[in-house]
Amino acid sequence: MGSGRFAPSPSGELHLGNLRTAILAWLFARSTSRGFLMRVEDLDRARAGAEELQLADLAAIGLTWDGEIVRQSERSGLYAEALGDLRARGLLYECFCTRRDIAEASSAPHAAPGTYPGTCRDLTEAERAAKRGLRPAAWRLRTEAETFTVTDVLHGQYTGVVDDFVVLRNDGVPAYNLAVVIDDVAQGIDQVVRGDDLLSSAPRQAYLARLFGAEPPVYAHVPLALNAAGKRLAKRDGSVTLGQLAHVGIDAAAARAMILASLGLPGDSLSAALAAFDPALLPTQPWVFTTDPGAHASGKPIGWPS
Ligand SMILES: [Zn+2]
Repeated sequence: MGSGRFAPSPSGELHLGNLRTAILAWLFARSTSRGFLMRVEDLDRARAGAEELQLADLAAIGLTWDGEIVRQSERSGLYAEALGDLRARGLLYECFCTRRDIAEASSAPHAAPGTYPGTCRDLTEAERAAKRGLRPAAWRLRTEAETFTVTDVLHGQYTGVVDDFVVLRNDGVPAYNLAVVIDDVAQGIDQVVRGDDLLSSAPRQAYLARLFGAEPPVYAHVPLALNAAGKRLAKRDGSVTLGQLAHVGIDAAAARAMILASLGLPGDSLSAALAAFDPALLPTQPWVFTTDPGAHASGKPIGWPS
């Protein structure tokens, strides 16, 4: 048996939606006798001090993880090795397109929206040499499939687009899709639990895992937390981070109890929740978390037990 994982990006404080996903990842891993690993995805958008705050909040709600914390910023050698391997196999090519080029090309009637139409796939060496002088290239994967099917505990068999996606950005940073896959393979991750906004990227990632000889993980893409307006929950909604909640007298145990209640689980402890956990009974709709617009007066989120 392999491991599950939680992989936050240290771009700011975790909010209740992030903490809920972390608890779900822990429940899925522990209920299937897997390890649970913590990986900091800090290749991009990392803010000073955010990692420490996030790990402290995860510990405060009672989560434990196995082994050392892995940081993507410390693994550039691993990504370079993987890229070298793909390049040696003839599976990478340079792309000189701007965002606008891609938007225009992929809005053509025959193109799937948001996918790369393969503009640079068959450039001649002379064309590439000319373009290199104009802008730095991103590197894309030369794929041989149009779709790939993954297995998701909540969504069943999910088939999605696999286009020639970017694996090395034109600023030299490994792309998210590459780093995630290389890390999951290297860490023996065979269960990926994360927000369902990432469902559509799972087929690309599973396809790439296969290229490295790995069996794609089992996925569970869980519903996100939304605010009253139906938008993804954010810190600016107020009373959504443990820090904000502490200011209004709500501690981490009470926040955890509310998260567990939203999952239909008993809220006294994570071990009680684990004993009652059944993926088949999880809510399939987003968790709408309503905070009080007059929060400065009352402080507490609407619906909070007083
Ligand atoms: Zn291109």
